[in-house]
Amino acid sequence: MAREARTFRAEGIVLRRRNVGEADSIFVVFGPELGKFEGVARGIRKSRSRMRGHLEPLTFSRFLLARGRTLDVFTQAETIRSFPRIGGDLERWAAASYYAQLVDRFTGEDAPHPELFELLFVALEALNDGSDPGSVSRYVEIHMLALAGFELQVDACAACSARLSPEETLLAPGAGGLVCRQCRPGAGVGRLVSVPAIKVLRYAARASLPQFTGLHIPGEVAEELQQALAGVIRYHLDRELPTARLARELSPGSNDPATPGADTL
Ligand SMILES: [Zn+2]
Repeated sequence: MAREARTFRAEGIVLRRRNVGEADSIFVVFGPELGKFEGVARGIRKSRSRMRGHLEPLTFSRFLLARGRTLDVFTQAETIRSFPRIGGDLERWAAASYYAQLVDRFTGEDAPHPELFELLFVALEALNDGSDPGSVSRYVEIHMLALAGFELQVDACAACSARLSPEETLLAPGAGGLVCRQCRPGAGVGRLVSVPAIKVLRYAARASLPQFTGLHIPGEVAEELQQALAGVIRYHLDRELPTARLARELSPGSNDPATPGADTL
């Protein structure tokens, strides 16, 4: 085995932190080249730590790390891009935290995933630029699922590939997407989605994020998509993420979460 360098450079977006001991924190970072990695920053919780602002969650920074026996150690950090508008707005912050948690749950350690990094980065930029957090969230969910290997089939029946009639259709995550009437009995749990919602799903799969956030989605369709995609994510992660609930509760016009029976998943 080749001898590894004792220090290495890395960059990435800070996904989360966990405090250890009196002044240290462990940070989980997601980078374009390394994928997800973690390291400890010694003394970071002391006020004089120069690395502090550069290791805030949801900041894109470059780092120097020293190889450690059990954990690598952050020795330098410098911000590449921060997203001040996200930090100053609870709804945007909740949405961004949700994306970070999605990335965290859908990825393993040390597996490079540049497309996923790009998705997270453009989503944070969109939130920071003032795009509607609900639209950004739906786009992130649809594309995150695809990049994690759970792409939703929305153009034809996910089970038999038949053409779908323009009618309310079952979205069944276990089957991989929309299923036709004939395949419904064997498709497992799911949720019926309306024709307008299906059109939005199809558009989202093809559009860029700026194109998608430029689309006006009526409130009831947005609500329907939010619940349908939350069901799909929950199915694949086997649980609802706490940040998903928070992002939903903070979104304006949300009449959730007092309607648990509305979602059949
Ligand atoms: Zn079918």
